[in-house]
This record gives sequence, C-alpha cells and structure tokens, in this order.
Amino acid sequence: MMGRQQHQHQQKKALQVLSARFISSSDLTIELKTDKSDFENQPKKEDLVFGTTLSDHMLTIEWDKQNGWSPPKIIPYQDLKISPAASCLHYGLQCFEGMKAYRSLKDKDSIHLFRPDKNVERLKNSMRRLAMPGVDFDKDELIKLISELVKVDKDWIPEGEGYSLYIRPTVIATHRFLGVSPPDCLLLYVITSPVGPYYKTGFDPIRLTTDTDCVRAWPGGTGNAKCGGNYAATMKPAAEAAAKGYSQILWLFGENDEVTEVGAMNFFIYLINKETNRPELVTAPLTRGDILPGVTRSSILDLTRSWGDFDVSERYITMGEIKEASDENRLIEAFGCGTATVVSPVSCIQYKGKDISIPAVGELTQRVWDEIVGIQYRKIEAPPCTPDWIVEL
Ligand SMILES: *Cc1c(COP(=O)(O)O)cnc(C)c1O
Repeated sequence: MMGRQQHQHQQKKALQVLSARFISSSDLTIELKTDKSDFENQPKKEDLVFGTTLSDHMLTIEWDKQNGWSPPKIIPYQDLKISPAASCLHYGLQCFEGMKAYRSLKDKDSIHLFRPDKNVERLKNSMRRLAMPGVDFDKDELIKLISELVKVDKDWIPEGEGYSLYIRPTVIATHRFLGVSPPDCLLLYVITSPVGPYYKTGFDPIRLTTDTDCVRAWPGGTGNAKCGGNYAATMKPAAEAAAKGYSQILWLFGENDEVTEVGAMNFFIYLINKETNRPELVTAPLTRGDILPGVTRSSILDLTRSWGDFDVSERYITMGEIKEASDENRLIEAFGCGTATVVSPVSCIQYKGKDISIPAVGELTQRVWDEIVGIQYRKIEAPPCTPDWIVEL
C-alpha cells in the first residue's frame, strides 16, 4: 500500500514538474493595483512622449533550471529586485520586443494586436541566439498572456488614429553568477506604455549619413536578434551623426558598401532598375543574418508584392548603385520602417562627405503608410494577403 501511494505521489510530482516546465496561461494569477493615482494623473494623450508613461500592470514569468517556467503573474507595475551579479547586467544577456495594441476607430471597445505571432517568434529566436534556456515554450501561451495584460490595462489605450499601447516584452538573465555561461535563471516580463502618433504634423523626412567607421551588425553576429547590445553600440556614432545634422545612420556593410538598415529600422529604397528599366522596391535580404527581421518590413513586402505594380526585391543594394541612380535621375523614394514610426521617409543620404538628395515623401511612402495604418486601425478591409494580421482580444 505504502509503495503504491509513494509511486502515485512521485508520478504526481513528475507531472507537476512537467506542467511547470512551459509557459501556461491557465496558471495566470492577477493582482490588481488599487491605487488609481497614476492612471488619473497620466498626461493628456496629446502630451504623451514616446516611452515615458508606463501603465499600471506588468506580466512576469520566471524560469529556473529546477522548475522551468513559473506560473505567470500580472502584478502592479513595480521595480525589479535582482542581484547586482545578475548576468544580464554584465554580459548583455537581454533581449526584447516592440509591438502594439490598438483600439479600433469604429468600435472603441474593440482592441486588437497586429501580428503578435511574429513578435513572439522573434523573441524566441533572440533568446535562442543568446543561449537562453526555456525557449521551447508555446508561442500562443505567451500571446494569450500578453493579451490578458493588455485587457487589464485596456483603459490606458488612448482613442484615435495614431494612438496605441506600446508593448515591451523583455527577457533578462537573472542568474547570480560572474562566470561567463548560459544562464540558470531568467525573468520574462512585459510592460506597456501608451503612445501617440509619431508624426504630429505630417511626415517629417529624415536625413541620413553613412559616414561612420562603426558597423551595426555583421554576418554571424547578433544583427538578426533583438538584443540590447545591438543598440548600445550605436549610441556613439548616432550622437556623432546628430552633431553633424543627420538624424540617423544608414548602416553599411562590406567592401562594396552594401546598405543594411537605418538607425533601428529596416530600409527600403525605390528606384528605376538600370538593367530592367522598371521601378523596383529594394530591401536587404535576411539570409546573411545581419538584418533584423522587422514585422513592418515583412508586412510591406507582402503588401507591395500583392499589388503587383512594380518589382519587389530582397537584395543588397550598394551605395555605388544608389549614387549612380541619383546621378541618372532614377532614384524615386527611400524610407525606414518599424513599429514605432510605421514608415519614415528619407530626404537625404550623406555618402563620403556628399549629400545625395531624395525627393521627399513620395507617392509610394504615402501609399504604404495608408495601407498599413488602414489595416492597423481597421479603417480598411484587410486585404487577402494579410490573413491573421489582426488578433482581436
Ligand atoms: C525592432 C527593429 C526593427 C523594426 O522591427 P519591427 O518589427 O518592424 O518593429 C528594425 N531594425 C532593428 C535593428 C530593430 O531593432
């Protein structure tokens, strides 16, 4: 009798360990904040400054070697308590995501996410690149938990076009260990922040420079992972560029000065192709591993390909080719793209000390903007090439 009970007990324990190994939305507990003062004293929506106002709650899920993922918790937004020896603080074992929740313009009570599966998949890829354990969790479970967090703080999502709740999933290694090794424990947390339109008075074209000795990413590096270390290395060259009057760096790579990304956005250029004499929209391919696979990038590729109005290529374009296109009046438009801005038209690219000017906001940039923003705010019927882009909560 004893033996059988013991056996059953062990079986039960083994099952518990197994079920605790993965992220499970059914284990979620929610502790609501009772103090409403932050909510009541938040800035008016017109005064929101990107990334400064944080909403009331956060999602936290811990991972450790013994127990796997702990039951997820939604708790009042609060400071973290981690060891000063935590390896995220020493070796950059950190990655993050940027995504948004939107309020539908037609029905203010209807809230949705834009392609959250892409963000969670990318978070897992970033974790994998940093040898973070626990990465085999079910994508949909984390999406459900993020959705719950958004629902808890749904009153923080401002109404109106251009407004949204910016969502910042983050994973840090909390391992208290000064040795260099993959971490024994992690914290996955998600905070959110109400944001307003990036452009208050129409597009504000950006001036780029390529003139820096720094490189953002390289084949075999972490350019295709969204990790904080990629950003840290851009602060110095970005500050130098700003001092010369350029708002962002157009990052080049290799002996042929191939264009990769702009600032922390993907880059598109629209020109008449010399060989085909047809208009072509070009962005760098993901194959080499130095390009961040942007959700906006992917959405723009899908949409523009579905239009069929011009060639769409994922290829490296060199600064020589851009310069030549400019000299021969074949350069039409260029823009950066990402979740924060959607698209950022480019008016000028400095290369080897000379400015190449680009006709400011063109038709294509505007059309891409209208289509993506239209889908995100559910102003237009989602085109057939966009199945499951909108995930209603
Ligand atoms: C986040 C990011 C982007 C844009 O990705 P989206 O998913 O479109 O927001 C582009 N480049 C870099 C380097 C990034 O970190």
